[in-house]
Amino acid sequence: MKENFEKRVSKLRELMKSAECVLIGGGAGLSAAAGLTYAGERFKANFSDFIEKYGMTDMYSSSFYPFATQEEKWAYWARHIVLNRWQPPALPLYLELLALVQDKDYFVITTNVDAQFAKAGFSVERIFAVQGDYGNLQCAQGCHNKLYKNRELVLRMEAEEKNCRIPSSLVPKCPVCGGEMEVNIRMDEHFVQDEAWYAAAERYEDFCSGVRGRRTLLLELGVGYNTPGIIRFPFERLAYENKNVFLVRMNRDFPEALPQNAKSTLSFREDIGAVLKALP
Ligand SMILES: [Zn+2]
Repeated sequence: MKENFEKRVSKLRELMKSAECVLIGGGAGLSAAAGLTYAGERFKANFSDFIEKYGMTDMYSSSFYPFATQEEKWAYWARHIVLNRWQPPALPLYLELLALVQDKDYFVITTNVDAQFAKAGFSVERIFAVQGDYGNLQCAQGCHNKLYKNRELVLRMEAEEKNCRIPSSLVPKCPVCGGEMEVNIRMDEHFVQDEAWYAAAERYEDFCSGVRGRRTLLLELGVGYNTPGIIRFPFERLAYENKNVFLVRMNRDFPEALPQNAKSTLSFREDIGAVLKALP
């Protein structure tokens, strides 16, 4: 695949130019390429105390750690949320992506919960963040479908955390049922989808229906096999069912095309940033 990089880049350039609509599918690999890596040095540098105490290995698996107390759980999550949601500015890779599509009729569907698309300036009306947002809390039981911005709270938790615990007074409680709270990311069946979520889902469906008959580029970025039913498989179906839809797949581990879509898929195993930089 390496040898014809220039050829594939110029094909992508052509596709971008002629596309009337661009549908971006952003997965974990996109934010990792942008710098929000969940393992390795960045994890070690920020979580050495948690690593020592709980044997954590990376920020994916630690999200599922069964903390014995709410004070420990929120000590972990406060740091995780600040580090990945509130602290980072819009990252250059996302800004480059916006520059690429801002003059097109575009839409974004993403499983990322770090709000990078919104930070970069993608229109919030054109983003569907299916799996939630680190920046919101919800009732752990989903007893009502309201979300609560957590910025001030998690910053305070982080400031007052000692020995991997926060003070009990900062542990959030559901204002309706009085039970525990949870980060609004899809982990189980209690995930809360509020009105804004359903409105975004509808706009996404409308956009997908609208691509039929229009020259459309599907830009699938860093989407692997964690939740392929959300972006990867539907994108393949769109490309398969519509002659005017072309799929560009950038994926370090799984760049291959569906055999039936071989002629309407362009694959990149290269770093997403390197591909975008080679484009103009
Ligand atoms: Zn509740």
